[in-house]
Amino acid sequence: MRTEMKQAVIVVGAGPVGLVTANLLVDDGISVCLVETCQDLPRDLRASTFHPPTLDMLERFGVVGRMIEQGLICPTWQFRDRNEGVVATFELARLSPDTGHPYRLQCEQWRLGEMLYARIKDNPLATVRFGTKAVGARQSADGVEIDVRLPDGGNETIRGSYLVGADGMGSVVRQAVGAQFDGITIPELFLTLSTTYDFRQSMPDLSNISYLSDPSEWYVLIRTAGFWRALFPVDASLDDKDVTSPERGERLLQGAVPRSQPYEVTHRTAYRVHERVASTYVKHRMAIAGDAAHVNNPLGGMGLNGGIHDAFNLAGKLIEVVRGAPLNTLERYSRQRRKVALDVVQQTALRNRSILNTQEPKARRAHYDELRGIVENPDKHRSYVMRTSMIQSLRDAEQVL
Ligand SMILES: Cc1cc2nc3c(=O)[nH]c(=O)nc-3n(C[C@H](O)[C@H](O)[C@H](O)COP(=O)(O)OP(=O)(O)OC[C@H]3O[C@@H](n4cnc5c(N)ncnc54)[C@H](O)[C@@H]3O)c2cc1C
Repeated sequence: MRTEMKQAVIVVGAGPVGLVTANLLVDDGISVCLVETCQDLPRDLRASTFHPPTLDMLERFGVVGRMIEQGLICPTWQFRDRNEGVVATFELARLSPDTGHPYRLQCEQWRLGEMLYARIKDNPLATVRFGTKAVGARQSADGVEIDVRLPDGGNETIRGSYLVGADGMGSVVRQAVGAQFDGITIPELFLTLSTTYDFRQSMPDLSNISYLSDPSEWYVLIRTAGFWRALFPVDASLDDKDVTSPERGERLLQGAVPRSQPYEVTHRTAYRVHERVASTYVKHRMAIAGDAAHVNNPLGGMGLNGGIHDAFNLAGKLIEVVRGAPLNTLERYSRQRRKVALDVVQQTALRNRSILNTQEPKARRAHYDELRGIVENPDKHRSYVMRTSMIQSLRDAEQVL
């Protein structure tokens, strides 16, 4: 067993949240050891929506121009009824006074990961260790330690002053913090199919991000720079092979938008979705952020964005603490960001799911009438997009002491 030299901050997990945290700390002159269990940065297709305030935050890294070049600007998004068409189209230009990026950007999250890794990989303040899995963590009055497993089966202990767990839903650091992770698991699996077919040929008034409501089978269409992604709920009792079979994909796509030709599907993933928030995000010198701290359904694109907002909040407070502020400064991070996860992210994601899948006709009409009322009223329209683009939650969190 070897023991690594002490770093100021150990970050576990090189997903978007860990990489944002590491970049912020290193930019401020603080040494970071970032450990990642994978041998390389993951390139799998996950979230692709970046909301306006997230883009505002990421500007300081000089990556947003390239994200825009590689991505797709989406000035509107909409709710539709699967049979009747558009219910409400939301316009993000209404946010022009509040953001430098009044649109959603569709850009695969791995692209941001690669840009952020490139920024720090040669910085002497950053040690990035791939193939290194954290298996346990503990703290004392003046430091933290993590036990890691190396690719050759060896073990090592890494010491630091503070620990950030950005290690995703199955977080080891969350266990060390002693937080509960209560909540629910959504009964259906989410199946995502990427296709080269341009759905605007069948629905000319389709926004690049559209949620299509239906009492028996709702779905979501999201356009990225290279293809469209369709997301369908599927029965969670099916086995993995059946869920992602080409036949199922073709059946679902033809059922949604019938065509004389088969769909060309370039990628398929199915995943289980949870709604959970950790009971605390901080214990003394340890903190968790992103999916390690909260998970929710992807309807509204708030998981990744909320995680990046956590990273900015937490890194800001860690910088203060490293520079001499009291340790309990970190606890305000937990109060602020837990409140956002509980009151905004979970509520919005659950409400979006309810708009999509409500079966009772009267309740469906009521949802539609409410959405139409919002888009027709300029004040309501603006405050709705302030909330759903997460600007409002950042402002509200500032009021939490
Ligand atoms: C299949 C899938 C599809 C998704 N699709 C969408 C979507 O369409 N829209 C949406 O909004 N959100 C989606 N999400 C959620 C979104 O991707 C997450 O909210 C986002 O990735 C959170 O970032 P993170 O950095 O907190 O965690 P992650 O991206 O999960 O990163 C955690 C990192 O920590 C590493 N790690 C984990 N444990 C350890 C350990 N013990 N030691 C060292 N390293 C460790 C992992 O390898 C990983 O690289 C999806 C998630 C999945 C799994």
